[in-house]
Amino acid sequence: MVEECVFCKIASGAITVKAVFEDDECIAFPDINPQAPVHLLVIPRKHYADVTEAAQADAGLIGRLFATLTRVAAEQGLTPNGLRIVVNTGPQGGQTVRHLHFHLLGGRFMGWPPG
Ligand code: 5GP
Ligand code: ZN
Repeated sequence: MVEECVFCKIASGAITVKAVFEDDECIAFPDINPQAPVHLLVIPRKHYADVTEAAQADAGLIGRLFATLTRVAAEQGLTPNGLRIVVNTGPQGGQTVRHLHFHLLGGRFMGWPPG
């Protein structure tokens, strides 16, 4: 746990969120500033700064998180119409919270290219 990390606090329960899914490895909860009708964050409980760090340390974790993301997407009713999974990484990638997280977005058409 990283003391000043907001997602570590959520993962440990020090900050309460309305989890839509959780297990011993990860937690899924609504983004505080939603950008779509459904906008959830899926984070591992263990702190990794970003996906490159996590993939080097535990590539299997990434696969398991994708399994959770697709499961949650189905539970949210997103699968038939489609959805978007985003992993902002580093300063130019637009990452603002340095604890690995996957955005799960759906419920509206997603434009391309992203901003
Ligand atoms: P990033 O910009 O790093 O890809 O995404 C960080 C996301 O975390 C943003 O969409 C932001 O709204 C969300 N966020 C930041 N702090 C909190 C918080 O305390 N609670 C929740 N639920 N979301 C947060
Ligand atoms: Zn953290």
